[in-house]
Amino acid sequence: MLTFNDPAKLQQWARLRRMKGEKIALVPTMGYLHEGHLSLIAAAKKKGAKQIVVSVFVNPVQFGPGEDYEKYPRDEKADFAKCRKAGATAIFLPSPRMMYMDDHSVYVNEESLSTGLCGARRPGHFRGVCTVLAKLFNIVNPHFAVFGQKDYQQVQVVKRMVRDLNFGIEIAVAPIVREESGLAMSSRNTYLSPVEQQNALAIYGALKMVRAKVRKVGKLPAATVRRQIAQFLAKNSLKPDYVEAVDAETLQPVEAIKKGVVVLIAAYSGKTRLIDNIII
Ligand code: AMP
Repeated sequence: MLTFNDPAKLQQWARLRRMKGEKIALVPTMGYLHEGHLSLIAAAKKKGAKQIVVSVFVNPVQFGPGEDYEKYPRDEKADFAKCRKAGATAIFLPSPRMMYMDDHSVYVNEESLSTGLCGARRPGHFRGVCTVLAKLFNIVNPHFAVFGQKDYQQVQVVKRMVRDLNFGIEIAVAPIVREESGLAMSSRNTYLSPVEQQNALAIYGALKMVRAKVRKVGKLPAATVRRQIAQFLAKNSLKPDYVEAVDAETLQPVEAIKKGVVVLIAAYSGKTRLIDNIII
């Protein structure tokens, strides 16, 4: 597995591989890799990529003031070993200075899909996400990039960016990987105390409950369900940030929860903000 720190070197290498006719996949991550990330590498392999580039970069631009940029968990050595074992062919570990010049002044902004949900609670977050992904797409110019459904809004925003800015990159989406307990895997789970982890199980518990009910009765009023979920989360010592039911494409709130609707939860367990979702 090759290691790159310099964007220009990676760009040069990727261009050469593409010229040789090799299929290139990109798996963007912020590192501290877990099975969820590794499933994206597996998906890239399954889709026939000859070169699988995993980027590990805690992107300062997507963190707001007071968020966890400084304390975000990092372990490059472990990430390297995991990537190699999972079958990645290159790892990209740039420093923030390599990615952002002191006087960098260009950002990419998606102005519709990113306004609600996490975008509303984390101003500037998707501007940071789009900017770093635009850079990574330009550096690697992969045939396709793989993302996790875990960050459902991110997937929709990225697809829109790729379409509207003609990146010509396919966006593949892999399902959410969970702990045996049902908790969606996340690098941030490392912040959770055992009790906070136990409480956090209510998030997927609530999502599964809604899915089971809809399977039984066909559809449910969104307003009522959202209220019930928020109460259920609070009962389990979680602080809901949002509970939403939206159209899978437009991310607009729906009135009825039925097949195809996405239910999304963001909630705090202690000080840790967790997100999860389910496509009904
Ligand atoms: P992150 O390192 O958290 O920025 O995530 C990098 C990529 O891994 C994103 O596309 C995420 O959606 C994906 N990802 C994170 N957690 C999971 C999970 N539990 N299952 C599947 N994909 C995930």
